[in-house]
Amino acid sequence: MEKEQDLPLLCYFEGNVIPLADAKIGILTHAFSYGTGFFEGIRAYYNEDHKQLYMFRALEHYERFEQSARILMISLKKSAQEMVDLTGELLRRSGIQSDAYIRPMGYKADEVIGVRLHDLRDEMYITVQPFGNYIDIDRALNVGVSSWKRTDDNMIPARGKITGAYVNSAFAKSEAILNGFDEAIMLDSEGHVSEGSAENLFMFRNGVAYTPPVTSNILEGITRLTLMTLLREDLGIPVYERVIDRTELYVCDELLLCGTGAQIAPVGSVDHRQIGNGGVGPIARALQSRYFDVVKGNVPKYSHWCTPVLSETRQPVTI
Ligand code: PMP
Repeated sequence: MEKEQDLPLLCYFEGNVIPLADAKIGILTHAFSYGTGFFEGIRAYYNEDHKQLYMFRALEHYERFEQSARILMISLKKSAQEMVDLTGELLRRSGIQSDAYIRPMGYKADEVIGVRLHDLRDEMYITVQPFGNYIDIDRALNVGVSSWKRTDDNMIPARGKITGAYVNSAFAKSEAILNGFDEAIMLDSEGHVSEGSAENLFMFRNGVAYTPPVTSNILEGITRLTLMTLLREDLGIPVYERVIDRTELYVCDELLLCGTGAQIAPVGSVDHRQIGNGGVGPIARALQSRYFDVVKGNVPKYSHWCTPVLSETRQPVTI
């Protein structure tokens, strides 16, 4: 069962828990005109055996939400932990018993003309909804390096998940799709590899994993951090954060994209150069299997990343 039939999806909107269908903003809202909002994307996974829904690394997501708020000079009235608890309540009261997606957003809410960050009313919402896979993760993606460059930290900081910045991602994604690729990889303004349109990236060469550093204008991804841990601790693969050149992608042994939405998406070719045998590589396959065990709350060592929603009792923390 995906959702209890008679329960409407609830959201938190500007201070109240209300049905999603009733949450509306005016057309002059500052964030709608000028992109002065920021958001998070969080997943919750349903574990049929446990009859439990787990939010994955929700606290870390809300801590990044707080960082985006600071960058955008938006004050949040709730702490990260309060937002985690509130999100659990929304999922529970909406009757969601399937994989789900959580979208919190903070924004400049005044309905005024004039671009700025200061002297504006700050508001936030949190929505929850049942949700499956964002991109096909059972086959390898064919990706293209975008002609659009990733925005620099002193243009629109990629480290903040800022709504306006996603126009940059949208340019890259649509260019890639319309040119026949599945996804885009963006370079930074110095020509080094940054990230996908909404995913971080791992490249594997000679049994070693490499991922661009946080100074390569990437979003500091939570899936990226998770995979760094799983690669090192569980797969015994060393991980280095270092600058990556475009043509390293052409000659690597394996490549994958990762993110909350995309999860773990193996790459089969870059700019028409085949990677490995063009299919899902052995590291990606092993990582996917471990990742899905972890996010579903089946690995006690990582159960502290999984917040149960459907009962108030927390799982014991085992390291
Ligand atoms: N980069 C960008 C631009 C993104 O939008 C996302 C998705 N949030 C990611 C990377 C991956 O981040 P995370 O693993 O925290 O979802």
